[in-house]
Amino acid sequence: MEVDPFYRNLPKIELHAHINGSISTETIDELLAKNQQEGKQQLDITALQRWKAGLEKGESMTFDGCFDMFRLIHQLVDNCEAVAIVTRNVIREFAEDGVRYLELRSTPRDVPETGMTKRSYVESVLSAIHESKDAGLDIIVRFMIAIDRGRDLKTAQETVKLAKEFYASSGGVVVGLDLSGDPNKNDVRDYIPFLKEARESGLKLAIHTAEIPNVTESLALVQLPPDRIGHGTFLQPGDGGSQEIVNTVIKYKTPLELCLSSNIIGQTVTSFDNHHFKFWYDGGHPCVICTDDKGIFATSLSQEYQITASTFNLTRDQVWELSLKSIEAIFADDVMKDKLRNLWANEKSKLEFT
Ligand code: 5GP
Repeated sequence: MEVDPFYRNLPKIELHAHINGSISTETIDELLAKNQQEGKQQLDITALQRWKAGLEKGESMTFDGCFDMFRLIHQLVDNCEAVAIVTRNVIREFAEDGVRYLELRSTPRDVPETGMTKRSYVESVLSAIHESKDAGLDIIVRFMIAIDRGRDLKTAQETVKLAKEFYASSGGVVVGLDLSGDPNKNDVRDYIPFLKEARESGLKLAIHTAEIPNVTESLALVQLPPDRIGHGTFLQPGDGGSQEIVNTVIKYKTPLELCLSSNIIGQTVTSFDNHHFKFWYDGGHPCVICTDDKGIFATSLSQEYQITASTFNLTRDQVWELSLKSIEAIFADDVMKDKLRNLWANEKSKLEFT
């Protein structure tokens, strides 16, 4: 899609980006070439190439298909050096797209064959974040450690322990905990004690909620309440949610991280104009436009803003407000929020609003 320079130049906040789902085709090629040079067995990425070709042709994809792609990418990103390369490249790509504040998230993994542990995984992400800062990239980056609900409770417990340690030692770079993974797997209520434990230690909670219809689960999650909701696709009554769920989200003013292309490609939303953005935005609820997995869904944050604006007939002033108001939802203190608001004010005069 041709993206209008207005959306590229718009300063943007990205709050829902999974590191491995954000991997670009260039980074995949870089890692494959590196593996070849090092004489490693080449990974068969035919399924990923087919997926990307299907996207270009506008073919129907499935929600389960996304998770197959994550599993394939995890086979490629199986060592600390690869984790650092992907993180560095993802940060640079977001910076080039005009993202000025970025909260990345990722699930720490152990790969005994390469010596990668959950701890060294997180250290590799953090070292890439520090390198990007030292390189002078015009982007502020924070990190959330993710629990994969598809894995067992013992793993979730270890992940929370690690998140608490890094929250205390990372000098403010680790800011929160994400709960993600296949929503068809396990009962999310079993993970709630870990979420509460993380919150008690100061970590913010960004929780994937209502990606598929499940009233009991969605109600339990929104009642926590989390600091932000990821997707929130099926919160509404008649749509797999309930009025009580909607009322709870409104009561707590819990910001929604909305990822339009992701929901269309994963087929949890039937068309852009049916996207739940409209319901929440029209109600004045805090909404943040995000990419989810810019690599897997072949998108960019600029493109997501453009899609939102063209689908819902937003004026450029409204798009500007949407971006500016996203600052309220970041996991940072008022000093950082004021800093970003000043930056936005400085950038405004450089944009063409007509
Ligand atoms: P990673 O955590 O390895 O950096 O990013 C990929 C992982 O993020 C996936 O394996 C999955 O656990 C999670 N993820 C990425 N996109 C989505 C999504 O749209 N929904 C859910 N529930 N999880 C996702």
